[in-house]
Amino acid sequence: MLIGYAQTIITPSLARPVYMAGFAQNRQATSIHDDLYVRALAMCTRERTIVFCALDLIGFFRPDVQDVIQRVRGHFTELTKPEILIASLHPHDGPDTMGLWGPDDRTSGVDPLYLAELKDKTVATILTALAAATKESPAMKSVCLRVPGLAKNARNPEILDDELTALQFLDIDGRPLVSLFDFACHPEVMWEHNTQISADYVGYLRQAVEETTGAPCIFFSGALGGMMTPDVKEHSFAEAETIGQTLAKSGLEALENASSFPVQELDVQKKEIKVKLTNILYKFAFRRKLLPDVRDPQGKITSEVNLIKIGPAWFATIPGELLPKLGLALKARMRAAGAQVPGVICLANDELGYILPAEDFRFPLNPFKPGKHYEETNSISKEMGPVVMEAMLNLLR
Ligand SMILES: [Zn+2]
Repeated sequence: MLIGYAQTIITPSLARPVYMAGFAQNRQATSIHDDLYVRALAMCTRERTIVFCALDLIGFFRPDVQDVIQRVRGHFTELTKPEILIASLHPHDGPDTMGLWGPDDRTSGVDPLYLAELKDKTVATILTALAAATKESPAMKSVCLRVPGLAKNARNPEILDDELTALQFLDIDGRPLVSLFDFACHPEVMWEHNTQISADYVGYLRQAVEETTGAPCIFFSGALGGMMTPDVKEHSFAEAETIGQTLAKSGLEALENASSFPVQELDVQKKEIKVKLTNILYKFAFRRKLLPDVRDPQGKITSEVNLIKIGPAWFATIPGELLPKLGLALKARMRAAGAQVPGVICLANDELGYILPAEDFRFPLNPFKPGKHYEETNSISKEMGPVVMEAMLNLLR
């Protein structure tokens, strides 16, 4: 396999107002604590080329994803077009790229100029990673291990997915070329009063992995929905650093002790899904032009899931924030189907909000005071969970 990697800083300029995403509206950034990135990892075999692209952003909708993918694929012939996956990490210390967190509930928080620049940078970064895919990686390591005590489930404390999935591509001398880490926890250590732009615990994680290995690290968020959140007290950068460094150290130790395998298989299978939107709050947001209305004439939204196999490591990609109960069920099914190391990549090629098990879905009577059922108010419908799971299970059969 040939490996290529590229990254570009996407930290917004504070010359114009930057509305920070993830908590209340009208939270304006005041300074930059650490940079945000787009990172791209290109993996090529004779048969296939797949690019994994990670954005340090709250979410990136399918029309934006498709625009970027088409622009990249325009540079290739029909036979050499790469498969591209663009996933957001969902940090709550970055700019609004979706529209929900502007100055008030009638004004989008997205800066169109920033979004346009971001898309240009994402296209360029993916193309650079593809052009750089000349380094031979005859072997890889992959591990899946529990790292307890860092994340908690604020909705259902008894359901916890604390598995870290980590991969390392090695060069011909056995040295790391690129590391890939995947963990299910909202990057929101800094919480709602923070006004400093940051990649949260993920920034510290990547930095620690890169310092130890001398090679780049790309991170993805696992099944962090409803509500996998950092188990912290002070919401400080020191706590974000501890979480990032603990994950880095645990993953690298496990990789150190793992045996390496030749990368024999690189495969991607895609399945389109259609789900009817029922959430009244999304309808309000469409009417107010806070969110792009992507419904077809039947009121359905089209999105996709993917099953990506990289040797013994399999990744299920999900177009939103899967709840950990479904994430754990999915990983169990992936193991049963032959995955040695399963991982879930959420917010992949879309961000359609929380994806809940149907049996737990109760839309609150008053969605503005949702109590224990907040996730339902940020979900397109009760049907979404079963549709996503069925599509994934179909790919696994
Ligand atoms: Zn979330």
